[in-house]
This record gives sequence, C-alpha cells and structure tokens, in this order.
Amino acid sequence: MLLIQRQQKDYFQNSLRKWGFYLLAVSGATRVCGLFGYPVEHSFSPIMHNAAFSFLGLDFIYVPYCVAPEELESAARAVRALGMVGVNITIPHKEKVCYYLDEVTPGAKIAGAVNTVVNKKGKLYGYNTDGAGFLRALREETAFLPDGKAALIVGAGGAARSIAVELAMSGVRLVTIVNRNHERAQALANLLTEQTPVKKADTARLTGAEFKEAVKRAELIIQATPLGMYPNEDACLDFPYEYLQPGQVICDLVYNPPATQFMKNASLTEGVKVTGGVGMLLYQGALAFEHWTGLQAPVEIMRKSLQEFLDAQVTELNNDHYIL
Ligand code: NAP
Repeated sequence: MLLIQRQQKDYFQNSLRKWGFYLLAVSGATRVCGLFGYPVEHSFSPIMHNAAFSFLGLDFIYVPYCVAPEELESAARAVRALGMVGVNITIPHKEKVCYYLDEVTPGAKIAGAVNTVVNKKGKLYGYNTDGAGFLRALREETAFLPDGKAALIVGAGGAARSIAVELAMSGVRLVTIVNRNHERAQALANLLTEQTPVKKADTARLTGAEFKEAVKRAELIIQATPLGMYPNEDACLDFPYEYLQPGQVICDLVYNPPATQFMKNASLTEGVKVTGGVGMLLYQGALAFEHWTGLQAPVEIMRKSLQEFLDAQVTELNNDHYIL
C-alpha cells in the first residue's frame, strides 16, 4: 500500500514537472475538495483533479478521505463545518450519503446515488455526474445523442442504474435491461417506467432469444458488468455479436484495460462505433470539477493525467481494484 501511495505521488510530481506545472503549495486560503470512500487509496480522482487545479493555477487541493460507514454522517457534517468546497462520494457511500444532504437533484434521487456533493454557503447539494459524464463522453467520442434512441444495458448494478436514469431523462425511447439476476433487471426497468419520462423499459434474459432481438434493435449497447476488468482481462460477456448492426454505438464501462475483449470482439463488426470506460471516468470528474469551481474543466489535462496514470501504473502494480 505504501509503495502504491509513494508511486502515485512520484508519478504525479514527475508528470507535473514533465508538463511544466508545479504542485501548488498549500496556503492559508487553500480550498479543499475531497473524496469520501472506503477504501480510497486506489482512486484516480486526486491525480485528475489536482492536475486540473494546478494547470489553472487555482488554490484548490483534492484530498482522499477513508470514511468508515459509521462515520459517514459526521464526515458529511465536516464538509459544512470545515468549509470544504465539496466532495466526491464513492463505494460504499453513494446511496447512504443522500440522507445527509440538504438537496439532491431529481436524477440522483431517482438513481438513489450521489457521487458529487457541493457545499454552497453551508448547504450541501448532491449530484450524480456518473450518468451525465457517461453521456458527455459518448457525445464527444461517438457523437451519440440519446433523443428517440433505443438503448440496451447489460448489468443492473450501480453504474447501470445511474446511466439508465440519465438516458431515460435525456429522451431515449426505449431502455432494455439484461442482467444475470433477472429480478434486479426487472426492478430497474420498473424504476424507469415509474419514475422517469421514458416511454418503454423492458428486460431480457442473458440466455434468451429476446436478448438477441434487443441487440439487433438497439442503437446504443452498454456493457455495465465488471467482466473483462483487470486482473481478469480474459473474462468476457457471452454476447451474440452476430446480431450487431452497422451504425450501432457500443460502450464497455470497464476502463482498465482501456480496450477489453468485448470491445475487440464487437469491433469486428463493420460499421459499429466502439468505445471504453475511460471517457466516463474522465467526464464524471470534469463535471464535478465544474460544479465545484464554476469553471470549464481543462479536460485534455485531466485526460492526459488519467491516461498516463492508467498506462504507467494500473496494469503493473497490484491485483487490487482501482476506484474512481
Ligand atoms: P455493481 O454495482 O457491483 O454491479 C455489477 C453488475 O455486473 C451487476 O449487474 C451484476 O449482475 C453484473 N455481473 C457481475 N459479474 C457478472 C458476471 N460474471 N456475469 C454477468 N454479470 C455479472 O458494479 P458497478 O458499480 O455497476 O460497476 C460495473 C462496471 O462498471 C465495473 O467494471 C466498473 O469498473 C465499471 N464502472 C466504470 C465507470 C467509469 O467511469 N468508466 C464508473 C462506474 C463503474 P448481478 O446483479 O446478477 O450480480
């Protein structure tokens, strides 16, 4: 663990030097943003946000805090008490933190998860930038716009839920959820039809013919399971690739490795656009940055820091799970 932390620090300082930036000294006026998770040691967010603050010359700093579940309420109160700018929230606190906030956006409320808290004059506002970050990444990388489209999501966990709600609130015509645990897929589909403006949400079983039909008619296909993620890069979704159609956009949320086996297999179909999870990781951070600073995020600097960190460290260091 110490080795990782030292390497992260060395990596960050070397990168800053390489790009001609300097680590901001902490002054009496330094504003603090943070990350609450449990654990947080492997987060990418400090690299990305501190590079952005440094690049823009902002007297801000981003600090990870390992917050045990029983301390979450106190930690949320500390955001107010310490006058922090805001915090990111990661596993396992995304759902529970909602209880300790003054206001939560409608999308985050429906998704039941907040990943960004902003402290505005002592009032704590909760946002979910995962879904919005996903859509912004998709727009930048593939020019995909959700309005009137049919989307298929494989997976019904936290990431799938945030994205499904964002898609449903952004005008998609149909969302189909396919999940190993079918009841969980049904619960998410019900949530969408009951609480969002989406016209239709249905489900399919991973092994059923309806999955193939859903693949054929979807304009956007999202792989939202951890299959293929380091260190199990060989694991791959059992997917009916032969039903893919030219023009479809296919996204794997896994960001390490940046190109999964699922992405490689899907790319063999001519005319499909395939993308991975790095963009979502980047843009959920960029949106949080914009909420905290009111400034446009220096996305290319954040992307560069993230990409270099991913390339240099993640696949080599250890077998632990990296988190946002
Ligand atoms: P989660 O809440 O634990 O949900 C995992 C989902 O994957 C569940 O639907 C689960 O199905 C399914 N699943 C797990 N193992 C499976 C297997 N062997 N076969 C079929 N389905 C399987 O996780 P999450 O937070 O949603 O994250 C999902 C993936 O998205 C992870 O790889 C994560 O790294 C990635 N992610 C990426 C970003 C980004 O910024 N790019 C952000 C968030 C998450 P059951 O319900 O049947 O268990």
